[in-house]
Amino acid sequence: MIPSKTEVPPLARYPEEWEKAVTSLGARSFAGKQVFRWIQGRSVMSVDGMTDIAGSLREKLREAGVGPVLEVALVKTSTDGTRKLLVKMKDGATVETVLIPGTTGPKRFAEGADAASDAAADTEADADAAAADTDEEEEGGAVRVTQCISTQVGCAMGCVFCASGVAGFKRHMGADEVIAQVLLAKEYLYPGEALRNVVLMGMGEPLHNYDATVRTLRLLTHPEGLHLSSRRVTVSTSGLVPEIRRLGEDFQGRIGLAISLHAADDDTRTRLMPINKKHPLSELMKALREYPLPPRRRITIEYTLVAGKNDTLEEARKLGKLLRGLPVKINLIPMNPIEASTLGPTARDRVLAFQTVLTDTGYSVFIRKRRGDDVAAACGQLALLGAKPKVRVDRS
Ligand code: SAH
Ligand code: SF4
Repeated sequence: MIPSKTEVPPLARYPEEWEKAVTSLGARSFAGKQVFRWIQGRSVMSVDGMTDIAGSLREKLREAGVGPVLEVALVKTSTDGTRKLLVKMKDGATVETVLIPGTTGPKRFAEGADAASDAAADTEADADAAAADTDEEEEGGAVRVTQCISTQVGCAMGCVFCASGVAGFKRHMGADEVIAQVLLAKEYLYPGEALRNVVLMGMGEPLHNYDATVRTLRLLTHPEGLHLSSRRVTVSTSGLVPEIRRLGEDFQGRIGLAISLHAADDDTRTRLMPINKKHPLSELMKALREYPLPPRRRITIEYTLVAGKNDTLEEARKLGKLLRGLPVKINLIPMNPIEASTLGPTARDRVLAFQTVLTDTGYSVFIRKRRGDDVAAACGQLALLGAKPKVRVDRS
């Protein structure tokens, strides 16, 4: 059966959509809830594994094409424990998802977390401050894993320091493909590890694929699914202003938000991130100031330091002014080198000086080390296997 364009792909259905689907196949609506729980609660994507579903319904589901939509083509494990999975979709397109183990207990906030796990850890820290956690004890000493997932094959935004941007846009991922990255990752967790945070920080711009992103967020946080706390799910965006506003409204600001800022003035930002032409800083900052952030929560500001492009102390001071009054924490990420560009990271002493300017102004500023670098799993290094850069980006 070929799904119609508007039909929700099976792995991304909500319980009520499953109820409708199974009743149309002649089963009782209760079975729909069961199927939802198998998929989202227990990460079972193949109908054969849904053992308490009647054989006749299973057969019909199979015929209707319910089943895995991704396969893992390659796993690369870094010396720091980070695992990068190359996943292949049905049309042969590939994207990457990364599992990043944290440390147990309070040490998880220690310096040295990578940008992805830290964007998540920050919301966790804020939550802990509010003493709102009930699952701390249940998890015991589990190693908390952050998963970074992709939302598009390639990316249309064209940021010059990013492998996905250089590769260009191939296609959106379906909500089923996005969520399936999380569902299949369960098999790649080590004993004693628990998935704790999900960050939409892999390949692609999540807010450019808005509907699939929102569906994924709702599935990840669904009480009968993985039931991740919304503050442990973070969307990272290059600054699509209308969609930032929509996300704020759709989730009352409860989903973690990370903004890839990378510059404090329009000229510099447009040079690094072409999207800034469409949504300049004034517009972006206004949307951030109006974002309905719950109390004690902060927006994460990502600032990739690119040597000679955005890393002067004057720029640090400008950034401090730009963010004044906003509840933020700042992550400084020395650019991870990518093959398609000669742009490179700011030297360590300059990074520290940049940090000092901002900490002296009163900001929380963290320097993020590269996790999974030896398997090209660090931020911005997720490339399309075999993709040639669309444009040459050596602008230095
Ligand atoms: N498209 C979204 C999410 C994916 S990119 C966004 O741009 O926010 C995730 C993060 O990696 C962003 O902050 C991005 O700016 C950063 N990044 C991209 N390329 C990088 C590189 N080469 N080195 C360091 N960070 C990079
Ligand atoms: Fe796309 Fe984000 Fe890379 Fe920019 S940094 S090209 S928005 S994935």
